[in-house]
Amino acid sequence: MKRDDWSKILGSPGYTVYQQEIDEKAKTLKLWVRRKRGNRKYICSGCGVRIAEPADISEREVRDLPWGAFRTTVVIELYRVRCPNCGLRIEKVDQLPSKAPFSKRFEEAVGEACESASARRVAKQFGMAESTVRAIDLRCLERWNAQRRLPSLRQMGVDEIYLGKSTKFITVVSNLETGEPLWFGAERKKETLDEFFRSQLTARQRLRIEAACVDMWEPFKSSVEQWAPNCAIVYDKFHIIQHANKAIDEVRRAEFFRKGGAWRGVVKGKRWLLLTRWVNLSQEKRQQLNALFALNRKLMKAYLLKESLERLWTYRYEGAMLRYLKNWTRQLLWQRLPAFEKLAHMLIDHLDGILNYCRVKVRFGVVEAINGNIKTLLRRGRGYKNLRYLLLKAQRMAATKTEFVVFRKAA
Ligand SMILES: [Zn+2]
Repeated sequence: MKRDDWSKILGSPGYTVYQQEIDEKAKTLKLWVRRKRGNRKYICSGCGVRIAEPADISEREVRDLPWGAFRTTVVIELYRVRCPNCGLRIEKVDQLPSKAPFSKRFEEAVGEACESASARRVAKQFGMAESTVRAIDLRCLERWNAQRRLPSLRQMGVDEIYLGKSTKFITVVSNLETGEPLWFGAERKKETLDEFFRSQLTARQRLRIEAACVDMWEPFKSSVEQWAPNCAIVYDKFHIIQHANKAIDEVRRAEFFRKGGAWRGVVKGKRWLLLTRWVNLSQEKRQQLNALFALNRKLMKAYLLKESLERLWTYRYEGAMLRYLKNWTRQLLWQRLPAFEKLAHMLIDHLDGILNYCRVKVRFGVVEAINGNIKTLLRRGRGYKNLRYLLLKAQRMAATKTEFVVFRKAA
């Protein structure tokens, strides 16, 4: 093979292969490359300024994409430049984005593999340590994030997610229009969300926010009111239904302990059935629920209340929505369902934010989809110690896939 051909296959513009070494047994290929004769553009890696003459020369060895069955390393000639701003610095080379011993395209191949598989599996595939794979993936994500333009924030979602025993809860702020998480903060206090408004947005950007989808959680509400004066609080249907699910679970447990004996066998394992919407149940499951309801009227009433609450968000006019909610609350009279009475009080206390749905249209289910994505990542990655990595991972997932998830949920 001619020298020129080696350079062609390597495909590094401006560089040429001047020496090569093949080990057929070990299946390795090593290439020495240097600048082509005419390539005399030296750029400072510190500030990006162009320097006329290099100061001295050195070498670096990086892993590159394999050539066929051969694992390939490239030894590249690098120059140092004397920069007026930074002093003595290594030159900037596009194919070497970091100090790590990998070429950019190799890192990108690893990053791409990490999009659909766990770091553990990618590590196996490339024959590297898992921690190295994670570090490469993080760098790829940072590079991707640095070159993209962030859309402005007009509708935000605020939610919390449980990360396990050590980290506990974190607050997740997201952009409802793009379906992308924007920021993670420790705990779920007012100060947490204050920190987001203070550190992530300018005063002008804060004024531009028109709606926030939050849970009925006082600390978040007061933070939004303080920092984003033009923002309407909209209580997310998803969160309210979660509260209704909690209420029905309370009824189930209360009935379970009250009756005891043979009855316990009937209620046992029915938790999931009670939390699932009727339309999503198979014929067989519906029969199981009906059998349960025949034995316990209270559970049936609670289930019907939960089911009918969903209709609240089919109304487009405040008056109609309010009327429906009042009727729903009235059905609770004489039912002796304290869990639902508590829920009704909660809804009445947060009436404004519920009715705001008629005033500002927001996409429901986005917060839920983002939450689901983060949980998928956590399961696949077996936890993330680095929250910045988790955030970038979830953002990338949103940019490439969430749209699909969100629309499927809405359909
Ligand atoms: Zn410089």
